[in-house]
Amino acid sequence: MNIDDLPIRDELRGKSPYGAPQLDVPVQLNTNENPYPLPEPLVERIAERVREAARGLNRYPDRDAIELRTELAGYLTRTTGHTVGTANVWAANGSNEVIQQLLQTFGGPGRTAIGFEPSYSMHALISRGTGTSWISGPRNDDFTIDLTAAGRAIAEHRPDVVFITSPNNPTGTAVDADTVLALYTAAQAARPSLVVVDEAYVEFSHRPSLLALIEGRPNLVVSRTMSKAFGAAGLRLGYLAADPAVVDAVQLVRLPYHLSAVTQATALAALEHTDTLLGYVEQLKTERDRLVIELRAIGCEVTESDANFVQFGRFTDTHEAWQKILDRGVLVRDNGVPGWLRVTAGTPVENDAFLDAVRELMKEQS
Ligand code: PMP
Repeated sequence: MNIDDLPIRDELRGKSPYGAPQLDVPVQLNTNENPYPLPEPLVERIAERVREAARGLNRYPDRDAIELRTELAGYLTRTTGHTVGTANVWAANGSNEVIQQLLQTFGGPGRTAIGFEPSYSMHALISRGTGTSWISGPRNDDFTIDLTAAGRAIAEHRPDVVFITSPNNPTGTAVDADTVLALYTAAQAARPSLVVVDEAYVEFSHRPSLLALIEGRPNLVVSRTMSKAFGAAGLRLGYLAADPAVVDAVQLVRLPYHLSAVTQATALAALEHTDTLLGYVEQLKTERDRLVIELRAIGCEVTESDANFVQFGRFTDTHEAWQKILDRGVLVRDNGVPGWLRVTAGTPVENDAFLDAVRELMKEQS
């Protein structure tokens, strides 16, 4: 028996699931995780808050996650200077679930979403999973968004949902406010559509967040995550900020009590330690900038990065280059962008191991 013998939906036939390899190698720099484990005082605080939550586990959790949304709103306000309140914020199990809820609400059968590729592959996969048709929009050769071509694609396809990823994964490219505004205007002219700015990596950016753009634009959503900057990929906590009407709209599709009491308690504990965690972000930004400089010195081409990862190349046989780096004990990511690989900024020691592996590879190839 295999999948194709089952009566699955036609559009899922022959497709592959999301699958970054989870290999047991000494240096894992392939899934844009934060390399620093949570600091011990935070681990203790999580244990305390989870113990407290455990006493109430016979009851369903706060369905509206009010305390958590209030703290997330406080974090956004403090770090961006743009005031948002509890009613502007919604949280779910990872920003993947936030995106799924948005597509269930604003996409779906007979509707269309567009993204500018290469970009985060889950935008297309979650679109497919929710029955939303996917359109692959273009980028320039330097991986910035080609505004003219993007505007043309929006006018032609009149998508219901537009994804803008800033900083973009896997290229690291940040998008400026003017580009978002131009795409928003184009999207609203084509039909009233939802524009989702995916800011999963924004804390690592040289540029400020685009959060303030939600003001007066009810069809603009910014999505965020605690997986990267907060070093809590295992927690599964993503969130969005938007007009309160968007938050009301996703209530129509969210599962009741989707965010467990344990998740809410853990996220609240992590938010109490924001300053320490953002200190790690500063170290990672320095390491990211070092990776860019050193990779260029080795002779690689590197895409400007505003994220906690760097896209580097170019290789004539990308898979072979990936394998040779892996043979030296370092796992990086082949995102299927021809000629390019992506490395996540790790600890200084991990990054040195990676740079040594690439140095050897480049020597072999010259
Ligand atoms: N958006 C982007 C651009 C990402 O790269 C990722 C994770 N790789 C996510 C969203 C999802 O992250 P999570 O579900 O862990 O919040």
